[in-house]
Amino acid sequence: MELERHAYDVVVVGAGGAGLRAAIAAHEAGARTAVVCKSLLGKAHTVMAEGGIAAAMGNAYPEDNWRVHFRDTMRGGKMLNSWRMAQLHAQEAPDRVRELEDWGALFDRTPDGLISQRDFGGHRYARLAHVGDRTGLELIRTLQQRSVALGVDVYMECTVTRLLTDEDGITGAFGYWRESGRFLAWEAPSVVLATGGIGKSYKVTSNSWEYTGDGHSLALQAGASLVNMEFVQFHPTGMVWPPSVRGILVTESVRGDGGVLKNSSGNRFMFDYIPDFFRKETAETEDEADRWYTDKKNNRRPPELLPRDEVARAINSEVKAGRGSPHGGVFLDIASRRPAEYVRKRLPSMYHQFKELADVDITAEAMEVGPTCHYVMGGVEVDPDTAAAGVPGLFAAGEVAGGMHGSNRLGGNSLSDLLVFGRRAGVAAAEHAQKRAGLVALAEEALADAARAALAPFERDGGENAYAVQLELQQTMHDLVGIIRTAPEMERALERIAALKERVAALSVEGHRQYNPGWHLALDLPHMLLVSECVARAALAREESRGGHTRDDFPATDPDWGRTNLACERAPDGTVHLARQPLPDMPPELAEIFEEGP
Ligand SMILES: Cc1cc2nc3c(=O)[nH]c(=O)nc-3n(C[C@H](O)[C@H](O)[C@H](O)COP(=O)(O)OP(=O)(O)OC[C@H]3O[C@@H](n4cnc5c(N)ncnc54)[C@H](O)[C@@H]3O)c2cc1C
Repeated sequence: MELERHAYDVVVVGAGGAGLRAAIAAHEAGARTAVVCKSLLGKAHTVMAEGGIAAAMGNAYPEDNWRVHFRDTMRGGKMLNSWRMAQLHAQEAPDRVRELEDWGALFDRTPDGLISQRDFGGHRYARLAHVGDRTGLELIRTLQQRSVALGVDVYMECTVTRLLTDEDGITGAFGYWRESGRFLAWEAPSVVLATGGIGKSYKVTSNSWEYTGDGHSLALQAGASLVNMEFVQFHPTGMVWPPSVRGILVTESVRGDGGVLKNSSGNRFMFDYIPDFFRKETAETEDEADRWYTDKKNNRRPPELLPRDEVARAINSEVKAGRGSPHGGVFLDIASRRPAEYVRKRLPSMYHQFKELADVDITAEAMEVGPTCHYVMGGVEVDPDTAAAGVPGLFAAGEVAGGMHGSNRLGGNSLSDLLVFGRRAGVAAAEHAQKRAGLVALAEEALADAARAALAPFERDGGENAYAVQLELQQTMHDLVGIIRTAPEMERALERIAALKERVAALSVEGHRQYNPGWHLALDLPHMLLVSECVARAALAREESRGGHTRDDFPATDPDWGRTNLACERAPDGTVHLARQPLPDMPPELAEIFEEGP
């Protein structure tokens, strides 16, 4: 077998915000470090992030601090978050943002010259550091330049298909060049997974083509567990028209900067969905209510900025009740609320996105929007301080890791999560590698087996086409494990996934190994199916509604479930099992933070 071989201390799989931040940290800790990514460097999903990075810097509201950010994050996650991760995240995010600035990131400024911070749903204070609505681009540009300048090795357009292990843990990874189809292997005592999310298992999604859940699946197959997989975030506002762009994100910044949601009768329906504990005043008119809820001096927020799960459910209900827009969404209107110049300056990407893709001028007319699969809260179960997974030498950071966001992520908390836990993962991976230096080796049989598995679709004749299976999976997840769930539907989904698994095992691929997207998809599909099974199994087991998991048959939030996490584990025969885990008690010094404010 022709195989390119490399040896490193730390191999980072993924070159988004989490992967690059981990690589920088590992390199700075003295580790020989490589980054592997499916796309070109700089093209990771993070580049699409629009609204900003949440960090309690106190620039817009001096009274903001990590304690309030911690409380908002925990409440947004409906208290299911790993409290230790939420604490570290809130405490360290401001330093991570300032560090980006030291490395050359140019954030928008306040009139006083501080980093500007914008409003986002679920955050008590305006705290998203941003660069217009292109924050991810600036974040990636900065981290990418720094990694290249430091001398981190980059393997781009390269897919990892297997993690390699021995009885003591990680020994490396196996993959292929997407262009030539040739195989390569990295010997390394530490591997950091930073592979992002799973959205491509759903029909309507804001996620990029890379989000096939590879890291989730690779970790599970290597012996790690996944937590919180039932919690999938449907962002309330994706484009709904024209069909070719359905799902593309309409950033929450539109609402953060004053946009409001209306139904087909022109009513601002979110006033009807304010939870009782938030509802402070009944107003005679919409204008009166608007004035009351947007009173920033008293730290009030418009109802459009309720957490994402709540806004997405409200939109879903309006559409179901027949009050939707012509193409099955609702209207998002910033044109009647802000001057055209303000919209073009604050939301340049949104302006161009709608102009070019839908022929809609958002400074003059309302947008049509609806929920889109956006983010997976569930991921690899990690130690909060080190990002270490259950397999020695394996680490996970960013969207592929679970725990930080509980049942629902607040907007802006992902970019800060990538930076905080990317750095922690890189530091810990370098430390682990130092302890294991000279003790790992790649087993020839394991390499041959990984190559055989990757080539298997070429060996089979007359099998099905990978694209047909992918479409069926996406439709299944959309229809049966989507925004509103019921037991019979999820049972049907699990049956279909089992049948799709059999069909994938019999897939065949035409042509040869040089840039062959059908082959690439055939190798991604088992990951997508395994991860979809975890989502469906965990969602079926959790008999309550909470955050990004809404059960029509169990609409209430259940306090017992509020103390329980579900972890997916893979048995040697390949079946997925669920384990119930009690949440660890929060220490009193953190618990008291919930007494400090409304
Ligand atoms: C349109 C949009 C806007 C968003 N806006 C915001 C925002 O304003 N604020 C915020 O906090 N969050 C936002 N998010 C969420 C946020 O962007 C993501 O959660 C975050 O970027 C994920 O970063 P990551 O580093 O974990 O993964 P990614 O940036 O997706 O990187 C994953 C990397 O892994 C690589 N990879 C995957 N599988 C393999 C494999 N098998 N082998 C090799 N490489 C592999 C990919 O090629 C890629 O390089 C937004 C999301 C979307 C879709």
